[in-house]
Amino acid sequence: MTTDTIRLHAVSRRYRTGDEVVTALDGVSLGFPRGTFTAVMGPSGSGKSTLLQCAAGLDRPTSGSVTVGGTELAGLSDRRLTLLRRDRIGFVFQAFNLLPSLTAEQNVALPLRLAGRRPSHARVREALDRVGLADRARHRPAELSGGQQQRVALARALITRPEVVFGDEPTGALDSRAGLEVLRLLRDMVDQEGRTVVMVTHDPVAASCADRVVFLVDGRLTGELGGADAGRIAAHLTGLEAAAC
Ligand code: ADP
Repeated sequence: MTTDTIRLHAVSRRYRTGDEVVTALDGVSLGFPRGTFTAVMGPSGSGKSTLLQCAAGLDRPTSGSVTVGGTELAGLSDRRLTLLRRDRIGFVFQAFNLLPSLTAEQNVALPLRLAGRRPSHARVREALDRVGLADRARHRPAELSGGQQQRVALARALITRPEVVFGDEPTGALDSRAGLEVLRLLRDMVDQEGRTVVMVTHDPVAASCADRVVFLVDGRLTGELGGADAGRIAAHLTGLEAAAC
């Protein structure tokens, strides 16, 4: 039986700006099974980032529940939530978010330092080796290509050995070759290490690397495709965007 690493049940997130209320997520129920790769797609403004933020414990839903490994997030204090995120969840973002003044190995070691742990040199080197950058350990981000910077960000996400890795458009700023390299590493995390990966993307080619694609429109799940190629995913997405016009 597959177990869900993360489960959302009837999750809604509303934002209030002045008199206006925007419903970014509207009763979403969804599980991310352990050891699988899910892509999240949908038109701009459909709630993809909000879904990721709620599933990762970066934002709290207005109603509904989110569980990570069976732990209900709503019951956690901010401090406990921060600890859970730090120990069990890794992130990669479109903009890499590396600290420019630190070398690659210092960036990778940062999550352990922030957790008050002394990172072993071997562990940091192993993480950089894992993403093919053992020979770039002393380079600063400005001395690395975009693809290499994103691989450093992946090594940083992996250093705490998280169960789940979230990516918010992790290939969005990369050319297709560097993007495919990052996708291959995400795929390996699932296939070889049994991690769970959840990735927001606009790119049907990137989404085709996932086991399944879930589609959002106006904050609601509108369907999913399993094992689809990029052509089928693009056709589905075009249909959703045409319907939204
Ligand atoms: P996507 O990632 O699919 O582009 P988002 O999750 O960013 O969509 O946004 C969904 C909706 O919620 C949009 O209408 C957006 O304007 C709104 N929204 C997102 N974040 C906020 C916020 N902090 N305050 C007010 N509205 C927000």
